[in-house]
Amino acid sequence: MKTVGILGGGQLARMMVLAGTPLGARFVVLDPAADACASHVAPMVNGGFDDAPALEEFASRADVATFDFENVPAASADSLLQRVPVYPNPRALGVAQDRLAEKTLFGELDIPVAPFAVVDNRTQLDEAIARVGTPCILKTRRLGYDGKGQFRLRSAGDADAAWDALGAQASRVGLILEGFVDFERELSVVAVRDRHGGFRSWPLTENWHVDGVLSASLAPANVTDALAEQATSHARKVADALDYIGVFALELFCRDGELLANEMAPRVHNSGHWTIEGAETSQFHNHLRAVLGLPLGSTRMLGHACMLNWLGSMPSPEAVLAEPSGHWHDYGKAAREGRKVGHATLRTDSVDELACALERVGEALGRQEQVAPVVARLRET
Ligand code: ATP
Ligand code: MG
Ligand code: MG
Repeated sequence: MKTVGILGGGQLARMMVLAGTPLGARFVVLDPAADACASHVAPMVNGGFDDAPALEEFASRADVATFDFENVPAASADSLLQRVPVYPNPRALGVAQDRLAEKTLFGELDIPVAPFAVVDNRTQLDEAIARVGTPCILKTRRLGYDGKGQFRLRSAGDADAAWDALGAQASRVGLILEGFVDFERELSVVAVRDRHGGFRSWPLTENWHVDGVLSASLAPANVTDALAEQATSHARKVADALDYIGVFALELFCRDGELLANEMAPRVHNSGHWTIEGAETSQFHNHLRAVLGLPLGSTRMLGHACMLNWLGSMPSPEAVLAEPSGHWHDYGKAAREGRKVGHATLRTDSVDELACALERVGEALGRQEQVAPVVARLRET
């Protein structure tokens, strides 16, 4: 069996390694942090993503390379490609790294997006606000994650504050202004495409964010079949256009029953963690199958699932483990404010059982606020 090289040694790499071990796959992880959380489960090369000797050693030990971290410099992905196959391909990675390239592609594929404008200097910010309207969000084009590198403007009067917060980054990572979408729901399609163009997606997932960070995911999202099909069709168009191989996520807003694309993640995704216990084949398994050129597994889900993210520090596991449907994931990371340190998934046969299990867990852990929007959604059905 082959050795899969993973750029980035975070929890996504760790879960990939845990999923791939029964397949017989071997792994090597490249990360600048020697204690990266995947280092507990896989051999690693310790070095930066633009560190030529580290990349060289990593490439020499891998048969194929993939990503846990999407912000690897494009030049590094290209140089790796001289040595080993890289999935997803560096062009797909490059598009997903830049909000402008991403939105431009969505537009070319007739996938609606919120109004946006590029901002390279302070004057352009005023012009962009006039074009896009308020409220709006100024974002870095590159390197943003978990809502970092974003500033929300309620009115044109917030332009100075927005520029103070992000203007210094304009020349390094670029800025983009986006119209604020007053959405009813946030949804994501997690999907996989194989080397022959075979495409599968997991049931549509509804997501809740707090301060720009994913807090909870519910699958299947309770939307009409037509909306779910449209979301899947958007994801398929993106994957085909990029000749994408592996798992990716397309994040969508639903406003007045219409879908608007937010962004894509060129990797396994936090909103797909429920697939570990909730689907016939998880996102991690299918990503590895795609990368290794193996047949994809069914993405059928079993019942209903909710994933809760643990941010900052791990709660006690007992309340989740006491649930017949409770599953616990501790990434083995040190506690730090806002950091994703673990998650739990509850999986049940019915919507009602899921709502009751979430209420019990929320109460026991003092996390009523985290479970409340999910319970409310489940009770609507
Ligand atoms: P990640 O890659 O971790 O998902 P990110 O830093 O790339 O996050 P976004 O997905 O752009 O950031 O934004 C984070 C969250 O902020 C979104 O999931 C959504 O809840 C909110 N948000 C972002 N852009 C908009 C928008 N234009 N209108 C309304 N809400 C938005
Ligand atoms: Mg993002
Ligand atoms: Mg996002």
